[in-house]
Amino acid sequence: MRLVFLGPPGAGKGTQAAQVADRLGIPHIATGDMLRQEVAAATELGAEVQAIMERGDLVPDDLVTDMLLARVARPDAASGFILDGFPRTRAQAEALAEALGEESLTAVIYFDVAEDEIVRRISGRRSCPHGHVYHVEDHPPRAAGICDEDGEGLFRRDDDAEEVVRTRLSVYREQTSPLVDFYEGQSILRRLAGAGGRDAITARVLALLGQ
Ligand code: AMP
Repeated sequence: MRLVFLGPPGAGKGTQAAQVADRLGIPHIATGDMLRQEVAAATELGAEVQAIMERGDLVPDDLVTDMLLARVARPDAASGFILDGFPRTRAQAEALAEALGEESLTAVIYFDVAEDEIVRRISGRRSCPHGHVYHVEDHPPRAAGICDEDGEGLFRRDDDAEEVVRTRLSVYREQTSPLVDFYEGQSILRRLAGAGGRDAITARVLALLGQ
């Protein structure tokens, strides 16, 4: 199963990708998480992308594509993967198709979520430094402000601040949403109503995949 989870920021792609990857036994590959790790580790790449991410813009195609293709080439991704947050532009989608060659994508799941719901989800989102994600109403941690998995303090991502979210949504509309038509044209797009509880949506994703 070579899957792409496509949709606006805050649509629930990351939460669902983690759950579905676990069920299918394939890696969840999130370019946003990988880039945040580069920033936290103060690597050369991290230094290059930090300011871009803080203002909600896209990092250059070649940087993110090289990073993603190197990850997909690792042995644990040989039997499949879920891409979360990639591709985000037509150039990235074309580079991915070229790299996969004959082993093309199995499906692209499109998370269709209304904009006011996106804003509600992002404003309640809390993250831990290791990538576990909560929501103050929908999926609160057992102890307020503390990650259930590793006991780390939860924080709000800098780019989840309201002005930055507005930029991210307009970047999504302009650069990423055309990929819906791109993949529909290849007959691999599956539309998912993204409203509802976490486990109900996971069941819907698995049903769309025939699992
Ligand atoms: P995310 O966690 O997916 O919301 O990504 C956080 C930020 O990382 C985005 O706002 C971009 O600045 C950057 N980013 C993640 N994935 C990509 C991508 N495929 N192309 C360009 N920028 C990306």
